[in-house]
Amino acid sequence: MLNKVLIANRGEIALRILRACRELDIQTVAVHSTADRDLKHVRLADESVCIGGPRSNESYLNIPAIIAAAEVTDSVAIHPGYGFLSENADFAERVEQSGFIFIGPTPENIRMMGDKVTAKETMRAANVPCVPGSDGALGDDPDENLRLGREVGYPVIIKAAGGGGGRGMRVVHTEAALLHAIEMTRSEAQAAFNNPQVYMEKFLEHPRHVEIQILADTHGNAIYLGERDCSMQRRHQKIIEEAPAPGVTPEQRAEIGAVCVAACQRMGYRGAGTFEFLYENGNFYFIEMNTRLQVEHTITEMITGIDLVRQQLRIASGLPLEITQDQVRLTGHSIECRINAEDPNTFLPSPGKITNLHFAGGNGVRIDSHIYNGYSVPPYYDSMIGKLITHADTREQAIRRMAGALDEMMIDGIKTNIPLHREMMADQAFIEGGTDIHYLQKKLGLN
Ligand code: ADP
Repeated sequence: MLNKVLIANRGEIALRILRACRELDIQTVAVHSTADRDLKHVRLADESVCIGGPRSNESYLNIPAIIAAAEVTDSVAIHPGYGFLSENADFAERVEQSGFIFIGPTPENIRMMGDKVTAKETMRAANVPCVPGSDGALGDDPDENLRLGREVGYPVIIKAAGGGGGRGMRVVHTEAALLHAIEMTRSEAQAAFNNPQVYMEKFLEHPRHVEIQILADTHGNAIYLGERDCSMQRRHQKIIEEAPAPGVTPEQRAEIGAVCVAACQRMGYRGAGTFEFLYENGNFYFIEMNTRLQVEHTITEMITGIDLVRQQLRIASGLPLEITQDQVRLTGHSIECRINAEDPNTFLPSPGKITNLHFAGGNGVRIDSHIYNGYSVPPYYDSMIGKLITHADTREQAIRRMAGALDEMMIDGIKTNIPLHREMMADQAFIEGGTDIHYLQKKLGLN
């Protein structure tokens, strides 16, 4: 087992990783910005190193500073968490070239999945069902692009190969708007991602976002851990997630799960990963693969009883998976609400000092959060300050449990989106289950 891990992240996920390390008797090194000296995991880590100023590019995205911190502390491995450098192939490469273990897949696999055109080509070759569209990047021939648009059928969506975080996409409803949309997306993609490649997909009108969690070791074993429904989104940002996905049958799960596992084995994938799909009329359409741990990994842990970070640490140590596919059992239903420090009406970030804090508790309630009484939420980073998770025998019970837990939560001094979550737990369409990815935006009057 690894004996010292540097945690190249902050907030709740850094604490999550620290907790898993402690259970495995792994020493921990926290790296932090000058604005993050008071983070809970920094106080709990065996060692900590300040790696730069408050802005992310001075600290959490500062590759030389992170590598130097690993060197001075004699760390053996680096866990990137999610966001920041977690899907940066150059970072993973630098980590390995400097003699450390990167807790994640190979740089080649990260690079392959980071380019959405290559990712889709790889998936198509592995028989993973994809959204119909162009077979690769769009060329410059207008007639050919118009022909393709007709073949795919409107509406279509033009997406940047290098896009991410919901940026670099444009929906096109009519042929008259196609060529201009391609040009606009291309130039935006060049400016934002330094990659002008764009591709075309059929725009699905009422899809749900359903994703498959996988784990693969370095001995050729891979398993899937069921799916998560993350359709409750605002501006392509997930707000509420649940597992299993309402309406997905055991047969559908087994079929798509096996396809994902086979794709992992074919790629030589290692570690934790997620295949993201749009799900419409019972069909799965691959959109992208996340080559890292995800925010919503917790709900998979609740229904499988498998600690995903522990598995990541074991895989990085070169150990085989502890579980076979037959041993994976899905039990009950789990829901996660992302708690953000933001105004519930305007969604503007609400950093500041927490003057009074009381967390929910009780059977089947889990909170992954780094905040504490008197903690000041800095203005520099993502506004998520924690995750409230419930687990129960049935979906209905998990929702009731969440409603109760939300009522118990007290976070004074800053604004949070808890009122929105309360409203959602009483929302008739959510209670029925199976709402599409546009539902929340429409409900909020945003489109
Ligand atoms: P990103 O990497 O920016 O998150 P994705 O490819 O995962 O990009 O797409 C983000 C979101 O955009 C999806 O969750 C979905 O809401 C919407 N989207 C993407 N592709 C399509 C499509 N073909 N049809 C309908 N919606 C889509």
